[in-house]
Amino acid sequence: MSNLFEAAKAQLDQAAKIANLDSKKIEQLKFPHCYAEVSIPLEMDNGSQKIFTGFRSQHNNARGPYKGGIRYHPQVNLDEVKALSFWMTFKNAVVNVPFGGGKGGIIVDPQKLSQTELERLSRGYVRKIYHLLGPEVDVPAPDVNTNGQVMIWMLDEYQKITGNKSLATFTGKPVDQGGSQGREEATGFGGVYVLEQVIKNKAVDLPKNATVAIQGFGNVGSFFALKALESGFKVVGLSDSKGGIVNMEGLDLKAVKDYKKTTGMLKDFPGSQYFPDEELLELPVDILVPAALENVLTKDSADKVQAKIIIEMANGPTTPEADQVFEQKGIVVIPDILANGGGVATSYFEWYQNMHQENWSKEQVLEKLHKQMVQAFADVLKIKNQYQTTFRNAAYILAASRIIEKMK
Ligand code: NAD
Repeated sequence: MSNLFEAAKAQLDQAAKIANLDSKKIEQLKFPHCYAEVSIPLEMDNGSQKIFTGFRSQHNNARGPYKGGIRYHPQVNLDEVKALSFWMTFKNAVVNVPFGGGKGGIIVDPQKLSQTELERLSRGYVRKIYHLLGPEVDVPAPDVNTNGQVMIWMLDEYQKITGNKSLATFTGKPVDQGGSQGREEATGFGGVYVLEQVIKNKAVDLPKNATVAIQGFGNVGSFFALKALESGFKVVGLSDSKGGIVNMEGLDLKAVKDYKKTTGMLKDFPGSQYFPDEELLELPVDILVPAALENVLTKDSADKVQAKIIIEMANGPTTPEADQVFEQKGIVVIPDILANGGGVATSYFEWYQNMHQENWSKEQVLEKLHKQMVQAFADVLKIKNQYQTTFRNAAYILAASRIIEKMK
């Protein structure tokens, strides 16, 4: 099942059946409340004009304002945006922050635009959807290929049009412009906090110094790697879009980071072996961490996975067919809506600080994040034990119950 939205709905159906959840409300949750498709005319630097297509999907706001990132990518499409907004609703309910789910995107390859074109495109997008946004209505954030600078352009445009000066309409801003300390590392660190709880609660049997392979060495993958190392795990495999590196003795992460910064890739890192990215999923490691793309663990690739546990740091890396294979093979999967929820938990901290004119230190933010992730894991584990089911089903049951309670 490669259509993400169909996969997302199948996950919900499965969980709803196990816990006998309110079928009418479950049916409602399979549709976003509202979505917009907009055309964005962009004046190019050479004076010509191009029209771009953008989307915003508002899935559900029973628990609070719609919340979710904006993605710039040539493959963005409405189904993907809908699926991602759906997962945001459930993720926010699992980590228990008072937000609903939203997501947006523009079909564009940002590498092909100049900075000034990118700024005009970002502002043009806001001009088309500003009436859907607001600190208590819908709060966007960065996602793939967008960043703090893009949020600042969008916020500025929003403030100019509406006169609303609140900083809380967008999160993921640079720290010196209303962003939160700790947001950068939050998603990766949050995933390791969850992994520590998995081990503490003996949800999987791992050796001391367990080995880790991570697909993707961007924001999420790199901070996951650093925190995992700090927590006593051995990071042996890493990959990015140009291929992977492995050293079963453990990689020197600081040196890898410096190497990637200067060369733009991991390939040929001294003292490591190179391999094509897909093979990372098959490495003989204890812990596998997809932290790059959707749909990478399919029926075919699932059979080759040797890890004992998979921590889904990317959104939607596992197809429902692959999930079945993992269940049969006894491989534990910690689902995205729990594992990568640290990002949005910290977006909530940013929103809260903006709304209350507060500034928290990095230590305060990471301490609150730790508490939030430990609690989310405990809540999911309780349901898992109650229904004797997988972590994914348990996370959906927990989230759907919380959302349905508010819908009622
Ligand atoms: P990023 O752009 O910083 O990093 C992505 C990484 O993936 C890069 O290293 C890139 O080289 C690598 N990559 C791309 N194609 C690849 C391929 N074919 N094989 C291996 N690696 C490949 O993005 P990010 O913010 O780290 O996000 C990664 C994933 O985590 C996405 O699925 C995103 O939706 C999800 N996520 C991110 C956050 C967040 O806070 N950033 C929160 C929740 C979920």
